[in-house]
Amino acid sequence: MVLSEGIRRHGFRKWYERELLSSHGHLALSFVCAVALLGAFEAASEFADWPDRLLDAVSIVVSGAIGAWAIRRYLYLLMHAEHAANQADCPQCGVYARFTLVEGRSGRAGDTAVVRCRECAHQWSIEA
Ligand SMILES: [Zn+2]
Repeated sequence: MVLSEGIRRHGFRKWYERELLSSHGHLALSFVCAVALLGAFEAASEFADWPDRLLDAVSIVVSGAIGAWAIRRYLYLLMHAEHAANQADCPQCGVYARFTLVEGRSGRAGDTAVVRCRECAHQWSIEA
């Protein structure tokens, strides 16, 4: 989810929690794909006829492709959430993640959220 939209809908802490849950869901998917890949490699020696071998080869390719996509998505979502969380400290008073969204911009360069601290009313931008 886009940072500014996530802050607007759920608040920063919930957005961050959801990003971490989503990223770790992708990590679990990549683990399942690794198990399926190992099973398909082990089954490759058992098959003698071509249709079964072809099906096994397709399952190896599909498991590998989904697993590679899932691990990339896991790393992207994790780094995206951590990058935003590292900017969630108020530069003036140092309080963490206690702000309200002033303005959100999304574009090709990324997502920017202009936020205001609830403690000292300082404004800064978080880029994701
Ligand atoms: Zn502050």
